Amino acid sequence: MERITAALQEIKEKGLYREFKYLSAAQGPHTVIDGKKVILMASNSYLGLCVDKRLKEAAIAAINRYGVGSGGSRLTTGSYELHRELEKKLAQFKGMEGALVFNTGYMANLGAITGLTDKDWVIFSDELNHASIIDGCRLSRARTIVYKHCDMGDLAKKVKEYKGYPGIIVTDGVFSMDGDIAPLPEIVEIAAKNNLLTMVDDAHATGILGKTGSGTPEYFGLKDKIDIQMGTLSKALAGEGGFIAGKQYLIDFLRNKARSFIYTTALSPGIIAVALKALEIIEKEPEKRKGLLIKAQWLQNRLQKIGFQVLTSQTPIIPIIIGDAEKAVEFSKQLLEEGIFIPAIRPPTVPQGTSRLRLTLMATHSLEDINHVLTKIQEIGKKLKIIS
Ligand SMILES: *Cc1c(COP(=O)(O)O)cnc(C)c1O
Repeated sequence: MERITAALQEIKEKGLYREFKYLSAAQGPHTVIDGKKVILMASNSYLGLCVDKRLKEAAIAAINRYGVGSGGSRLTTGSYELHRELEKKLAQFKGMEGALVFNTGYMANLGAITGLTDKDWVIFSDELNHASIIDGCRLSRARTIVYKHCDMGDLAKKVKEYKGYPGIIVTDGVFSMDGDIAPLPEIVEIAAKNNLLTMVDDAHATGILGKTGSGTPEYFGLKDKIDIQMGTLSKALAGEGGFIAGKQYLIDFLRNKARSFIYTTALSPGIIAVALKALEIIEKEPEKRKGLLIKAQWLQNRLQKIGFQVLTSQTPIIPIIIGDAEKAVEFSKQLLEEGIFIPAIRPPTVPQGTSRLRLTLMATHSLEDINHVLTKIQEIGKKLKIIS
């Protein structure tokens, strides 16, 4: 007990203590947090679909037909026609032979990495990969070799050192805290030369990047060159769940091997119907993602011009680097007092000394919202002496 309270105290002293913010309204561009109306620039519901009427209706229709819960794991009684339909549609969307739906993106990464590899394998993993990839690597018992963030020289060098082992290169497509895109053309080339598999976690790019919104492989014209594409149903697709898309034999294998797929109750019919409807909207309304990306570029440029250190990103994730954890928290707090929610992201989620505000735009934010937020960020930035 003493150890735990001491550790907790240390977390608090370092400005790293985490608490909930409770929402009491829907997650649109505006919401209500702890009783206060705010402009929300923190959601991963990039296309604003969380509050879309068509998705709500799809969920209600599925619940009326199939009930609320799934009643079992996918391999017992939890597979509905809807699951099959969604997996077929996801495979088409990603340009792969098959797909397998997991309950979360986290579980998809865990299941795919641990299912596929064992102690004979080598996994090459970008140092800024998502925690679910890191945990998958740890659980897999494979040798994990971490390469410097998007550093292809470092990757090539490390791949050379482990020639001859069965191996896989795993990367985020879009890095969640930096908003930058992995250099997939180079990764694919290194993998091909060295007979390695490739896996891309496209949680943030699914529904956003590429001509049809299918993600970073499409963005680079490499749809058929990535072996394993992971995506979430929880961000642009506005519901919850994750999936793996790949060759059919790989999907069959994971259905039999991935423990985070096998030993859990299936996603409920309502949420599967939401994902199906979201995919349909993404297909039919490309202007949503195009408009979002244009707005994000504009805001990023404005913030840089004002003097903030903003990481350059081609995505709706706009990281404003503050540095010190406590200062980042103070910035976020003052924004909240002004009716704007942008969270501070601190270690261990990001490296020491790179605490930041992580601003995310939604397709449904108006130019008025964006201009207002820009003005307030500038005011507070001056007050806290982050810009002059
Ligand atoms: C959010 C996220 C996940 C996890 O997805 P969930 O559906 O939230 O479990 C995995 N990888 C990356 C890069 C993410 O950003």
